[in-house]
Amino acid sequence: MAPHGVDPFAETEDQQALRALARDVAERELAPNARHWDETEEFPQGSWDAIRKADLFGITVDERYGGMGMGDIEAAIVLEELARHDVSSAILAQLTFNGPPRAIQHLGSDAMKERWLPMAASGEALFSIGISETEAGSAVTHMRARLTPDGPPGPAGQAYRLNGYKNYVTGGHKARCCLVWCRFPDSEGAKGIGAVLVDLEAEGASVQGTHVKMGLRGTSEAELAFDDVRIEPEDVLLAGDASSSDAFKTLISHINHERCGNAAMCIGAAQGSLEYAVRYMNERTIGGRPLAELQGLQWKIADMATQLEGARLLLQRALRLAGPHGTPPALETAMAKAAANLAAKFVCDESIQLLGGYGYSREFPVERAYRDIRGLCIGAGTVEIQRNFIGSQVLRGATTSSTGWRNPLV
Ligand SMILES: Cc1cc2nc3c(=O)[nH]c(=O)nc-3n(C[C@H](O)[C@H](O)[C@H](O)COP(=O)(O)OP(=O)(O)OC[C@H]3O[C@@H](n4cnc5c(N)ncnc54)[C@H](O)[C@@H]3O)c2cc1C
Repeated sequence: MAPHGVDPFAETEDQQALRALARDVAERELAPNARHWDETEEFPQGSWDAIRKADLFGITVDERYGGMGMGDIEAAIVLEELARHDVSSAILAQLTFNGPPRAIQHLGSDAMKERWLPMAASGEALFSIGISETEAGSAVTHMRARLTPDGPPGPAGQAYRLNGYKNYVTGGHKARCCLVWCRFPDSEGAKGIGAVLVDLEAEGASVQGTHVKMGLRGTSEAELAFDDVRIEPEDVLLAGDASSSDAFKTLISHINHERCGNAAMCIGAAQGSLEYAVRYMNERTIGGRPLAELQGLQWKIADMATQLEGARLLLQRALRLAGPHGTPPALETAMAKAAANLAAKFVCDESIQLLGGYGYSREFPVERAYRDIRGLCIGAGTVEIQRNFIGSQVLRGATTSSTGWRNPLV
């Protein structure tokens, strides 16, 4: 029987074409080399070149700067397809779609847009984000990176010197630019935190090392030092004010783009693992019967597909609420990110189990996907931090915008 309603999340023809393009790039260019990037920990230059050649880096950048002016839904489509085969490579696109270029587009001056956005759209430069510090990860308001005024204000405004040390900057060792969250003068706590753009070729900016990790081994996380780096007035993305936390709140809400991208990559990696497990179960016979006939294993597939679909629907709602050029709302985003992280962890883990000994081998892609998505459960705000936010909001009587569900006890 045909369904009676219309799928509210059906993709337009343009979105289907974009998905087909991203899928083709992922299958032809990313999948054959994914194991190589993982084993060697080399930067996935071949993936970068392929994404660039397909003109995919520019999809979310405004048309005025050489992009295609698309929104979060399209970004998620591409990230899902790339991550289906290689999360390390998908992260390169995530940094452009949902990293500094998106922040510049929404919050930056015209001069800043003209300087950086064409490089983002064309895939000429990699961008990175410097928020975390050794003593300030989840406790982000404890950050110490600080600006001090450099001389009196000029006609264009105040110039500064930046001093600080940022930890776990994805792609920071290869990036041309880093969006650095830092304190403006005389500030403590959430008040006075703002953000500046640092050209990583500037004097005083240096890479101090890269982390040796479990997964996402193609895209290293770098430690960046900023030693008296000159920050011109036009490098200030959002000025902090020592008497207000408004700039910090704006920056935090803008991270919702990155959280949705993170969720999309989790869904893509989990989808790839589920498909691999399904193929394997149909081919692998035990005592003359394919694994797919064993009901105990069919239940695993049922749970995997259901959790994945639940996360996908939550993500779709957050993305659609953003509209074509807005920002996804906080509560729906936190739910989508936590659900996608947990679904991916479950699906990728069960995929390993379903492949038996082969699932545990580095020669099969499901164990790499598991190691990769494990990092996504920590980056862009851990699962626990999403839960803190969701729990505190629900206890205050917050509702998700599409259900209007309200806690009757509040
Ligand atoms: C793959 C990857 C990529 C990353 N990329 C970047 C990047 O590009 N730029 C950047 O700035 N940072 C990046 N990070 C850093 C990331 O944002 C931090 O690791 C994360 O915010 C957690 O901070 P932390 O590591 O200091 O852990 P901590 O904050 O020390 O947390 C340790 C544990 O305690 C839990 N916890 C902490 N506070 C609470 C609380 N109040 N309630 C309950 N549980 C709590 C955490 O969830 C975690 O499980 C990346 C991390 C990873 C793994």
